[in-house]
Formats: sequence, structure tokens, C-alpha cells
Amino acid sequence: MPIRYAYSDIKKITNNFSEKLGEGGFGTVYKGKLRSGLFVAVKMLGKSTATGREFINEVATSGRIHHVNVVELLGFCFEGPKRALVYEFMPNGSLEKYIFCDCKEGTEEEIASLSWIKMYDISCKVASGIDYLHRGCDMQILHFDIKPHNILLDKNFNPIISDFGLAKSYAADNSIVTLTAARGTMGYMAPEMFYKNIGGISYKADVYSFGMLLMEMAGRRKNSNPFVDHVSQVHFPSWVYNQFSEGKELEMEDVTEEELKLVKKMIIVALWCIQMKPSERPPMNKVIEMLEGHVEHLVMPPKPFLYTKEDPAEINSSSTQSFLNSLQSEE
Ligand code: ADP
Ligand code: MG
Repeated sequence: MPIRYAYSDIKKITNNFSEKLGEGGFGTVYKGKLRSGLFVAVKMLGKSTATGREFINEVATSGRIHHVNVVELLGFCFEGPKRALVYEFMPNGSLEKYIFCDCKEGTEEEIASLSWIKMYDISCKVASGIDYLHRGCDMQILHFDIKPHNILLDKNFNPIISDFGLAKSYAADNSIVTLTAARGTMGYMAPEMFYKNIGGISYKADVYSFGMLLMEMAGRRKNSNPFVDHVSQVHFPSWVYNQFSEGKELEMEDVTEEELKLVKKMIIVALWCIQMKPSERPPMNKVIEMLEGHVEHLVMPPKPFLYTKEDPAEINSSSTQSFLNSLQSEE
């Protein structure tokens, strides 16, 4: 069980909030050190009433999760408006630093330092963490904010799923859930969050977000990037789908045959995960099976982004358009 700390303890642990690690939607994260010598990350939550709910949510959810690829809550502080969450410190930061080449100067080296084997290994472990959340504990936990920024890396570059601020837990029966508001981050949010006629909101929303993450890991770029040389490449998933369905192979420099197979596998699995209809996306245990199997055994999924087959009236074109726009205008 997580330990309850007094606010004075939190001040000592963080040395008066002297080292800031990051800032997210719900608060600021500081580096700290416990008396045992263990380094921790302390997330201080904002004072607004909305974050009160987020706080209870995060404590209640993370307190009962135990998996090597999911962050463990070591402690918390709840003293009136003073609310903090204490997690083990992850020295290698979050995954986006290692995926996006268009980020700040000086990070090139770090990007290069994660091999394709490691990237693939990380993707399998994230999948297994999500599978655990969906099926492995007494409750079904839906994360609703799977994205590179919320995947932390420990000292061995093992991925740790973090940030349960938007998570919800349910009785473990895989049923459709109701949400009062769409939640998640643009670019990773499942289409059923935006429109109602493709299927209800369920664990398949996390599968979709994982698919977008997986695609970014395989592409080593943002899925939607307006700064590329060719218009056809702005939306990477559409471009890569067209490449594959025309029978073209990926052209990549400095990769071995084996590495190319891993990347291709990640892309095909991602294309399955980002299917528009939740019912067509595989559950996470199937995702793991596909990632671990042979690429030759994988079948290409239907085109994920636009509905041209079946009943075209099913999704009205204006909402499809606004969904596509939202994909393009993320961040
Ligand atoms: P938010 O809900 O505000 O997005 P997060 O939990 O995602 O909060 O944390 C925000 C940022 O703080 C992360 O993207 C990461 O850079 C940093 N951070 C969070 N937890 C840790 C940790 N355990 N170890 C190291 N850095 C962390
Ligand atoms: Mg976050």
C-alpha cells in the first residue's frame, strides 16, 4: 500500500521543490529523495476542484496496480489543498525524447542510442502493461491517455506506463463504458470519443492510442507532421498503408533484414489497432501475440482511416472530415 506523507515530509523529500522535472495538465512534477536514498518523482496537483477528483482517481487506481511495466505509487499527501503523488524516479525521462527527430537540438544522440530491437522490445512491454490493466487485475483499468509522454523509461530503458490522471476503473467485464466528456490527447484519442455511430467507448480506446504510439515508434516521427518534404507523407499512417497495399517495401537506411522485419511488424500491428471501428481493433493480448509472432503470418488490415466500403451513410462525411482535421492539427 502507498504511504501517506505529511506536507512537511513532501517539502523535505523535494528539498523545497528545488528541482522541476516536468509539467503536465494537472500539476508539476519535482525530483525528490526519500530517507532510504531512493530517488522519487513528486507530482504536485493544482488547487482547482477538478483536480481533487483526478487526485482520488490516481491514488485509487495506481494503489492497486502491480506490474513491471506500470508505475508504482509509493506514497501520497493529502492535506487540504496540498496534494501530492510520490512515484519512483525514472532517470531516462519519457519516450517522446527517443522517437521524435524534429525535437530540440542535442537530443539526436539519444534518439540514435535506442536501437530498433530496443524500440520493438519497448513496444511489446508497453503492450503487456496495457494488457495487464485491461485484464490482469481485479478491476478493468482504462488509461485513456496512452502516448509517448506518458511512457517513462527506467535505468535499463524498460518502459513504465504512467500518469493515471485520466484513468478509470470498472468491473472487469469488458463492457461499454460511459464518459461524461471525451478524454485523452489529440492525435491519440480514439474516434469513438468524437462520434457516436462507430461503437461505444471501451478498452478498445486504449488499443487505438497504443496503435498511434506504436506507429510513431516505428516511424520515428509524429504521425502527423506538416514539415515533411512530400505532401503524401504528412500523415504517416495513410502513407505507409498505401505503400504496403501497393506491395512496396519500406526503404530504410542502415537497417538489417531482421530490423526491417521488426519495423514492418510494428506498422502492420499499429494499422490493426487504429481501425476506425472499435470492434475491428484487436484486444491487447492479441496485439502481443501479433507483435511476438512472425511478420509473414500477419494479414494487412482494411484501410483504417476513411470509410469507403460498407455503408457510407454510417459515418457522415462532415464528422469524418473534422476527425481528420483533428488528426492534422494536434498539439
Ligand atoms: P501530467 O498528468 O501533468 O501529464 P505526468 O505524470 O505525465 O503528469 O508527468 C509530467 C512529466 O513529468 C512527464 O512527462 C515526465 O517528463 C515527468 N515525470 C513524471 N513522472 C516521472 C517519474 N516517475 N520520473 C521521472 N520523470 C517523471
Ligand atoms: Mg502526462
